[in-house]
Order: sequence, then structure tokens, then C-alpha cells
Amino acid sequence: MPSITLHEITPATFKVMLQFIYTDEFPAEGEHVNSSIEMIQNLLAAADRYALDRLKFICAQKLWDKVSVDTVATILACAETYSCQELRSCTRIKQPSLSRAWTIIAEGKVNFFFWLFLQNRNWTADRLAKRGWPHDDRCCFCDQQIETAAHLALHCPFAKEVWTHFQVSHPLAIQIFAASRTINSWWEKARSGRKTDQQQRGISCSVYIIWHVWKERCRRIFQNEITSAATVAGLIKADLELIRLARLKP
Ligand SMILES: [Zn+2]
Repeated sequence: MPSITLHEITPATFKVMLQFIYTDEFPAEGEHVNSSIEMIQNLLAAADRYALDRLKFICAQKLWDKVSVDTVATILACAETYSCQELRSCTRIKQPSLSRAWTIIAEGKVNFFFWLFLQNRNWTADRLAKRGWPHDDRCCFCDQQIETAAHLALHCPFAKEVWTHFQVSHPLAIQIFAASRTINSWWEKARSGRKTDQQQRGISCSVYIIWHVWKERCRRIFQNEITSAATVAGLIKADLELIRLARLKP
């Protein structure tokens, strides 16, 4: 039986690439196809070498779906190595309002969550509906409104109950929450004005409120556990205190 020698490409990757060439479709996950980051990176490298632009684009999309704090550096390096414009543009932060997400005093995972949140990239019901993916339309807290990012952060009675616990410590931040209709208008107001220490702390507090409301939403949906607004507020206060102590360290 005739054989070919493959250089710098694994047989598994070559097989997936061949399947793509013959069918013009990314093969479904199965015996020879897995969608691990490593597999997709190998495929992206092969697509770059054999000038398969559409396969490159599909790989970029699949990698972008897997981006997280733990993987963003690897994925960016991959975008550079294989001149993957699609992936580069996915990870590039263009708007100054977005880049500010990374300067908020918070843990890295919270900065990352918030950066996605500002772009409406978290999987709220409205986005799941657009993709036709399984979801429950109604907000899991109030069971009245369609779940959107703006609803979860600004309009849901549960979120409002959480904010009220910060009315004394961060009155301006809570006032801005209460006066905003959309995420964009809230973020514009929250970051406008003089960059004082008080403003920074107000923004950190607001972002932690959103982060913890989101975590509680996921707990309710995926773990069927319910935590009260007062307990969620306690978790936020504990996180803010940890950040304050970390900043005091020499
Ligand atoms: Zn709600």
C-alpha cells in the first residue's frame, strides 16, 4: 500500500485537514476529532501552512470560544505565530472604554469577566436565544423579565437588593446604577469625571456587584442553589476587603 511521509503535522491533524478539504466542513467531534485547544492550534498551524483560509477562520472562531484568563496568552501567541488576523482582531481591545476594564482594581478573573460583560459576551438568555441554544427566557431571580446583561446588572429587583447594601459605603456608585438604563450609559457615567481613589473604589464595588450577581445567577441555574441578596452582599464585601488588604501590602 503506498504511503506518504508527513512532516511537522500529526496524522490526526492531517486526517482532520483532509476531511475538511474534501467536505468543506469542520468534522464533527468524534473518534479522531477532539476540540481541545491543542488540537485546534495544530489545525490552525496546518491551515496556515497549506493556505486554507476558511479553515483558519473556523479554527480562529473555535479558539475564540475557548478564550479565558488561563488561555488568552496562548491564544494570542497563536494568533501572532500563524498571522491569524481573525483571531488577532478578536482579542484586540480597540475602544478606550473597553481597555479601562483591565485597569479596574479587581482580581484578573473579574477583570476578564467584566471585559466580556461590557461587550455583551456572557451567555445571557437573550444571546442563547439568538443562537437557538437551550435556555430559559425569564430571569432566574424575578421570573418576570427576559434575561439580558442590562436586566441582571441594572433592573432586576435582586440586583437592586444587593446594591442597597452598598448605599452607605458607595453612595455615588449606587446612584449611577439606579440612574442608568443601559450598560453603556452606566459605564460612561461610572468612569467619567476625576479619577479619584473614591471613584476607583466605587467602580471596583460596582464591578464586584455585577460579578457576584452573575455568579449567583449561575449557581441558581446550574447548581439549583439559592443564596440571599444579603449573603451575596457579604461575599462582595469580603472580596473588596481582600483587595484592600492586598493593596496595603508593600
Ligand atoms: Zn430579574
